[in-house]
Amino acid sequence: AKRGGRNRHGFFTADLQARSVRTLQIENALRRALERGQLELHYQPQVSLATRQIVGAEALLRWRHPELGQVSPAEFIPVAENSGMILAIGEWVLRTAVHDAKRWLDMHLPLPAISVNLSAVQCRHPQLPEMVARCLRQAGLPARRLELELTESAAIDDPAAALAMMEQLHGRGVRLSMDDFGTGYSSLSALKRFQIHKLKIDQSFVRDLDADANDRAIVSAIIRMAQALGMQTTAEGVETEGQLEFLREQGCDAGQGYLFGRPLPADAFEAYLRTHRDN
Ligand code: C2E
Ligand code: CA
Ligand code: CA
Ligand code: CA
Repeated sequence: AKRGGRNRHGFFTADLQARSVRTLQIENALRRALERGQLELHYQPQVSLATRQIVGAEALLRWRHPELGQVSPAEFIPVAENSGMILAIGEWVLRTAVHDAKRWLDMHLPLPAISVNLSAVQCRHPQLPEMVARCLRQAGLPARRLELELTESAAIDDPAAALAMMEQLHGRGVRLSMDDFGTGYSSLSALKRFQIHKLKIDQSFVRDLDADANDRAIVSAIIRMAQALGMQTTAEGVETEGQLEFLREQGCDAGQGYLFGRPLPADAFEAYLRTHRDN
């Protein structure tokens, strides 16, 4: 038993070391990513299921490092959160996204709103509402054209602080949506108090809609609950006509996914908007 324990410990340590070497590499490289212009935003359309019109776009962060290559946000966002860098990166994301949205608004391209992801770390930062207001003011974008996506953990960690922060953002006219809905632990009463405008139905429930009756029951219940609470719904990860058909039947408002369009760099997304101008 003793030797087994040592072996397990040995594997565990090696694994931990490999992971922390990678984490350190990412952390060091990420420190310079902003100033070296390695970060970029891609935009993915959000589409009305009833009319197929574009109702918004989500800004998604991309990072290409000369040696590490393309690093997924799922990997580097947690590193940025643990090191505090997410505050500077998150501000750059917001500034860039509202600036791009304002340019497209001025070009009369069909983009009613822009969605930006907020980390739980940003949500706990007392200066967040002022930072958001400053970005909007500097870009000249009306607040109602900005939607902030937050996850349930942002609201759960410190409900009182989250409530105050959301009230300030809501008071300034910014819309809030609950990202990855259904994967966390939010209580329904909290949702109502938090002035959430929209639920984003997590893609894990959408993926198997065609085959899984439980997922169909869950998604239909989320949509009905949102309707009862006066909230909008957007389904994530819509890839098939079958998923689209079910979601539309159930009264889901909007969809986002490869069926409608992949995330695109700003110039390619601008061209995409231009081809949809007259639709
Ligand atoms: P998320 O907010 O849930 O974003 C949706 C993810 O689903 C994106 O992954 C998007 O590319 C992907 N996706 C979109 N349509 C489809 C589809 O039809 N099928 C499938 N399988 N996937 C689809 P991505 O861009 O890799 O981002 C991963 C996560 O990283 C995001 O999940 C978000 O939590 C985080 N993230 C990305 N950008 C930012 C950012 O600027 N700030 C913060 N705090 N987090 C970000
Ligand atoms: Ca999101
Ligand atoms: Ca999501
Ligand atoms: Ca997600």
